[in-house]
Amino acid sequence: MNILIVSAHPDPASLTNALSGVAAEQLREEGHEVQVCDLYAADWKAVVDRSDFPALPPSERLRVAVASGEAYKTGTLTRDVIDEQAKLLWADALILAFPLWWFSMPAILKGWIDRVYAFGFAYGVGEHSERRWGDRYGEGRLAGKRAMLIVTAGGWEPHYGPRGVNGPIDDLLFPINHGVLYYPGYDVLPPFVTYRADRMDEAGFKETSEALRDRMRTLFTETPIPYRQQNGGDYSIPAMELRSEAVDPKLVGFAAHVRHGL
Ligand code: FAD
Repeated sequence: MNILIVSAHPDPASLTNALSGVAAEQLREEGHEVQVCDLYAADWKAVVDRSDFPALPPSERLRVAVASGEAYKTGTLTRDVIDEQAKLLWADALILAFPLWWFSMPAILKGWIDRVYAFGFAYGVGEHSERRWGDRYGEGRLAGKRAMLIVTAGGWEPHYGPRGVNGPIDDLLFPINHGVLYYPGYDVLPPFVTYRADRMDEAGFKETSEALRDRMRTLFTETPIPYRQQNGGDYSIPAMELRSEAVDPKLVGFAAHVRHGL
């Protein structure tokens, strides 16, 4: 199988990049093809702006979704974006590796998503009508593929527990797992999170690497997070709310979008 690892850390010798390397090594040992995209090494342009749409006439307003859709359709997106989209289509699994910065991903990775996830490619896919709200949340261009996060965090595990002060890790990662990965169709695996990462010593690195190798061995067999499919009958259209006949109305928040709770 083909795997794309996108790693987002400014220091090549960082723990984050070391874990990306461990994952790549293990996957190759399993016989898979692996491409690692180090966004800092590639000097990835992180912001969407007018230069992303060279065919957009200077007199026209930049409406990003419209320009993105037009450029995708006409093959006039920039070379760097087209290359990354090709990698996403090539990969049977996508792994995003990053340090948790301000409870989310580093800006360079967010910018990779903003630019690579073009309209017509990752969103704005499928029929949009009163009957159907597109192919998304379990359906879409990247359906049938798997995705997973490798995250390092400075905080302790209980800080991210169900009653931890930072908020539960599954809630914090929900916008990425559900919003960025499940949205265009990926089956999303539980994240691999390393807590107290700044305190990691050699023994801890060895233990963490072994645990990560185990996760890589089961990348294609592990059960994904059972998010509800948008078009699977649980949601009303066009309100896109959970139907009380289908899902207990007492279930609210992020956990309600997982079939058995988060
Ligand atoms: P590094 O600094 O590269 O390494 C961490 C440790 O691992 C070092 O001690 C290193 O020696 C050791 N290590 C052991 N073996 C190896 C090896 N083989 N290769 C590399 N290193 C090894 N934390 C939170 O919990 N929540 C937040 O919201 C948050 N926001 C942040 C925002 C910013 C802007 C910054 C800078 C940090 C933030 N942090 C936060 C902390 C951050 O999550 C951690 O600093 C980060 O996850 C550590 O990962 P790293 O890859 O940068 O580690």
